Amino acid sequence: MSGLYLHIPFCKQACSYCDFYFVTRQDQKAQFVEKLINEIHSKQDSVYSQGIIETIYFGGGTPSLLTIKELSSILEAIKSTFHLKAKEITIELNPDDVSKEYLDGLKGLGINRVSMGVQSFDEELLKFMHRAHNANEALQCLEILSLSAIEVFTADLIYGNPGQTLQMLEKDIDTLLQFDPPHVSAYSLTIEPRTRLGKQLELGRLMVPGDEVVEQHVDLVEEKLKRAGLFRYEVSNFAKPGREAVHNTNYWEHKNYLGLGPGAHSFWWDENKQGATRWSNEANLKKYLENNHTKEIEKVSLAGLAEERVMLALRTSKGFSLCELKTRYNYELSPGQLAYLERMAFEKKLVMEKDIKLTSKGLKITDAIILDLLTA
Ligand code: SF4
Repeated sequence: MSGLYLHIPFCKQACSYCDFYFVTRQDQKAQFVEKLINEIHSKQDSVYSQGIIETIYFGGGTPSLLTIKELSSILEAIKSTFHLKAKEITIELNPDDVSKEYLDGLKGLGINRVSMGVQSFDEELLKFMHRAHNANEALQCLEILSLSAIEVFTADLIYGNPGQTLQMLEKDIDTLLQFDPPHVSAYSLTIEPRTRLGKQLELGRLMVPGDEVVEQHVDLVEEKLKRAGLFRYEVSNFAKPGREAVHNTNYWEHKNYLGLGPGAHSFWWDENKQGATRWSNEANLKKYLENNHTKEIEKVSLAGLAEERVMLALRTSKGFSLCELKTRYNYELSPGQLAYLERMAFEKKLVMEKDIKLTSKGLKITDAIILDLLTA
């Protein structure tokens, strides 16, 4: 079983915090769709097309800038190239692109999950983020979405913004919960160096909230979502039981995935299962269209994969087991690492039963625990 990720690199405008690969000119959209279809067909009769594709994810960029016809031609190419038994087909949407007709069109294509970049309902924060949509568009979109035939929708929220109070965040969460979302992704604002916010920070024009404020935001998000029946199954992801994202869960569980489009990442186990290869298409639309893009390739050893698996699993509510590490990665934790885990269990930051997983207390300091564990 594997997944397919398609990177659609077009956006209306650059969000101030975003460091994904995208372009704001859309005049090459038709040419891009054609190249993407060529790239899909190029995998015919390859190792990637032998197994079953269980999930497809249209990410970006802004995939909802593609028309239903364009999406349909991409899906047709996928069906004619791969063995598709899709459990989940997700598309990322921006609120300003959504209409009932568009959602009906997506449903008609077999897309059963949409992910909407709401981020906030506060006009000032949306402006600060330089989002293309306003609060009203987000509300209208959620209204249409919650009434649509699409099975699952998820909405993104960003907390920990400069000037965002707990009351503002609470209002955002309450507004979103009115639409009874089956899934929510909530991220703390991270400021990457190559972004507009990164430049402002460098110039000293931005004051970011301290760790204690961000921690209060996380607590509020977790508590309110839990009360609404959405459980934290990964550091940034909350879902009603059975509504967890399959595609993203497969990333954390080291299932194979193939990424197509400029800037897309792939991961594939070696045939002998003694390691894997990770690669990415160059993030450059011009070169992609000229068939001139390079791939950055990285070989990952079994031990490297095991450590990565520990890191990814500790971010999830499922955790990992020592047995899994042994059988899948031929890897054993050192006595020092086991002693560290026992200490964390004593401090109630972790549960050490058949599976080893962080408690809610531990999840607050996931990165620190992972770092300490891997260096213990
Ligand atoms: S819409 Fe998404 S991908 Fe595009 S700039 Fe904004 S955050 Fe980045």
